[in-house]
Amino acid sequence: RERTLAMIKPDGLSGNYTERIKEVILESGFDIVKETAVQLDAERASLFYAEHSGRSFFDSLVKYMTSGPVLVMILERPDAILHWRVLIGPTDARKAKTSHPNSHKSYASFHFSIRAMCGVDSEKNCVHGSDSPQSAAREISFFFGDVRSD
Ligand code: ATP
Repeated sequence: RERTLAMIKPDGLSGNYTERIKEVILESGFDIVKETAVQLDAERASLFYAEHSGRSFFDSLVKYMTSGPVLVMILERPDAILHWRVLIGPTDARKAKTSHPNSHKSYASFHFSIRAMCGVDSEKNCVHGSDSPQSAAREISFFFGDVRSD
C-alpha cells in the first residue's frame, strides 16, 4: 500500500463538491487516513508551490490557493499516487471535459475524472495530487508532520 496527498482546492470546497469527491475516493478503493481543513496564507501557498515560483501564473496561483480554505487528505491504497493522478484527470479541466468517448482522437484517454466534474480551466482545477513518491512524502509532511507510523 502507498500514500498520497490529495487536496480539494478552494473552488472545490466553495462549490460544495467535497461530499461527491469523497464518495469517488472511497468507491475507488482509497482509505482516507487523515484529513484537515486549512486556510493557506500567501507564504505557505508559495512554499507549497515553490517549484512554480518562476512561472508567469505564479501570483495568480497563490491568489487562487489563498482565496478560501482547502481540504487536505492522506489517501492510502496500492499504487495510490498513480491512481489518484489518473482519477483527477488532466491539469487543464477544459481538456478533462472535452474528452468524449465518441471523439476518435481522445477516445484512448477518455475516462471519468474529478476535474471534468468540478474544474473550470488550467488554474481552477478543484483538486491536487502528488506526482511522485518524493512529492507525496514532502506534501504529507508539509501538512501533517511526521505520520509515517500512524
Ligand atoms: P497539482 O500540482 O495542483 O496537482 P498539476 O500537477 O496537474 O496540479 P502543475 O503543472 O503542477 O499541475 O501546476 C500546479 C497548479 O498550478 C495547477 O494545478 C493549476 O492550479 C496551476 N496551473 C498550472 N498551469 C497553469 C497555467 N498555465 N495557468 C494558470 N494556472 C496554472
